[in-house]
Amino acid sequence: MTETTSSAAALDPGQAPDVRGARRFRNSSALVRNSDPVWQAAADHGLIDIQVEHESNNRLVVPGTGHAFANMVSCSYLGLNRHPKVLEGVVSAVRETGTIELMTSTTRIRPTIQGRLEEELSDLFGAEILPATTCTAVTAGILPLVASGHMAPGGPRVMVFDRFAHFSMSYVKAICAEESLVLTCDHNDLDFIADTCRKYPSVAYVGDGAYSMGGAAALDGLLELQERHGLYLFIDDSHSVSIIGERGEGYARSRTEVGELTTIVTSLGKGFGSGGGIALLDSRRKAEFLSRHGGPLGWSQDVSVPTIGAALGSAEVHRSPELGELQAALRANLDLFDELLPTPLAGNGLPVRRIDVGEADRAVALSAELYRRGYYSSAIFFPIVPRGEAGLRVMIRADMTAEEITAFIGHVRELLDQDLTDSPSR
Ligand SMILES: *Cc1c(COP(=O)(O)O)cnc(C)c1O
Repeated sequence: MTETTSSAAALDPGQAPDVRGARRFRNSSALVRNSDPVWQAAADHGLIDIQVEHESNNRLVVPGTGHAFANMVSCSYLGLNRHPKVLEGVVSAVRETGTIELMTSTTRIRPTIQGRLEEELSDLFGAEILPATTCTAVTAGILPLVASGHMAPGGPRVMVFDRFAHFSMSYVKAICAEESLVLTCDHNDLDFIADTCRKYPSVAYVGDGAYSMGGAAALDGLLELQERHGLYLFIDDSHSVSIIGERGEGYARSRTEVGELTTIVTSLGKGFGSGGGIALLDSRRKAEFLSRHGGPLGWSQDVSVPTIGAALGSAEVHRSPELGELQAALRANLDLFDELLPTPLAGNGLPVRRIDVGEADRAVALSAELYRRGYYSSAIFFPIVPRGEAGLRVMIRADMTAEEITAFIGHVRELLDQDLTDSPSR
């Protein structure tokens, strides 16, 4: 409970010393206490730990059971995870290099095919590119150096995290707090950020570009604060890359340049369909600096050759007219979904939809019955969403057919009218 323990208490044989940390930015006991019962409920309904064979994104088969189902929760929004060019990219990259990876820190030695990927993505997204195994590793590497003042002039920066920032960012708060003051603001609270900018000489804002639960960063206001106060912007656009922008550059990059005070990061393991993560930076020098000092960016595995091959294949699709066609197919499927089942997120241009049902047990029962009928959707409940706002989360993709979406919604509508918690399939 307390940050330090007096040596007297530590020596008192009748009292166990309190060794707990400050728990200002993480509290595993609370996390486990709140979320484990929920995971257990999902497990009891057979909704996690499922092993499948992948016939297509719309047909996963559980071996030995005869059960097949459509994946309604894949983040491969354009279906690129099984695009022939992406698969071919993997095979030809492995053939060309004759290896999976060098197993050597990329800070020292990296294969030319990684250099080629950096050039390809640099040209595609209009920024210097630093690739890594995951977006999580990119964020964990960069944020502490933003806090310490090494990413831009101005000294250590006060770090303002948006309350809705993805877990991969808030996970690094405790490390940032070793370098500078860490604050959390309400979602898109520009007034709070402006006040912080007036109070402290150097400030950084950390949040998503397009948020997975709907909505987007208040980018115009943030850019104005950058102009006026030199606010550093760290934006994670994992949920909009590939699906927004003429070249799939995402929500933030299609509206602003990266620069000395603006860094964008994204996963390539969602819409892009390849795996890996990247930072969009304003200079090669910064990429080199990060690979030396950005923790997991330098010490960890490099992006594997198959992943690089997949990303090169995906980049080729991004350059072709097919990208626009896939984006349009996704939009058409979203429009159909919104027409048949209007939800509060309807029309927001992003592929995540929530179907609210209220209580957690009802959400789990609905998810379980839909699974029995051949559709996997995620039940979401506290602490993922506030208490009493449980429901289902589904992701729409370009490679779903109108018939599949219509049939799924038919089942949802039928089940929403029933008292699911008494259903025998429980
Ligand atoms: C999924 C997601 C991540 C994680 O990406 P990885 O590449 O798997 O680390 C990070 N940020 C956001 C906003 C995400 O939605």
